Amino acid sequence: MELWYTEKQTKNVRLSLKIKEHLFSRESKFQKVDIFESYEFGKLMTLDGLVMVTEKDEFIYHDMIVHVPMAVNPNMTKILVVGGGDGGTVREIVRYSNVQYIDMVEIDKMVCDVSKDFLPTLSCALSNPKVNLHYKDGISFIKEKKNEYDLIIIDSTDPIGPGEGLFTYEFYTDCYNALTADGILVNQNESAVYENNRIETIRATKKLKEIFPIAKVYQANIPTYPSGHWLFGFASKKLHPLRDLKAEIWNNLSIKTKYYNTDLHLGAFALPNYIKEIISDGDI
Ligand code: SAM
Repeated sequence: MELWYTEKQTKNVRLSLKIKEHLFSRESKFQKVDIFESYEFGKLMTLDGLVMVTEKDEFIYHDMIVHVPMAVNPNMTKILVVGGGDGGTVREIVRYSNVQYIDMVEIDKMVCDVSKDFLPTLSCALSNPKVNLHYKDGISFIKEKKNEYDLIIIDSTDPIGPGEGLFTYEFYTDCYNALTADGILVNQNESAVYENNRIETIRATKKLKEIFPIAKVYQANIPTYPSGHWLFGFASKKLHPLRDLKAEIWNNLSIKTKYYNTDLHLGAFALPNYIKEIISDGDI
């Protein structure tokens, strides 16, 4: 008997992955956490039935959410990750020797525990001494912080359930206040292909543009995310993602990556017209 995992991406589009085994399934206080072993994408974690991370394509997402801002300011030392429970984001950040500490605020301890049990290549840095793990709501945590972080990465679920509050004007304003003068904020910014994701991309980008002097969108191809064309937000008080890219400095760090490079960095911000129009991004 064949076993399939199916994600309902819209009411008319589904993604199905053939599964070898359903390894874990439990309801936490916040969401349903499942781990599957798939034939094509290795192990995958889903939260409330939605793909969060797969062993095969997670490198794309984690490269792009970390190395894009780090290549704009390789000297960042104090970093906040909101969400990121699987550990992939902090795994990439700890590769920068300049980093003094990373506050990681994950609302659901079960996600970290399950990632440690089933996804060691993702969770390997959760025990790194530079990582301060806080099992709290990022919405309340950020309110206590002023002028502290050089980088805030919002590595969240979609804007439903516990993740909803991480896409609000108030939360982005609190992030602005928690950032230093050169501060950069990066978020997973949904996608422009399907209506339910597109609405969130437009909303989040509009808010970031109202709060930050510089607010851009960049893209990557992530096969297991809805449509495969995924977007990220880059918001900054001063540093521009292209004009301030430190390509030579970053390349001299010799950080080996499977997806990111400083040429692709430039292309990631070269958006298709249909996306530029909906985020009213006249210029770059
Ligand atoms: N890094 C993965 C990827 O490749 O896209 C997915 C992101 S990670 C699993 C999303 C995390 O955000 C989840 O672990 C979820 O528990 C966490 N989260 C959602 N709402 C939150 C909140 N308000 N505060 C802190 N963490 C939150």
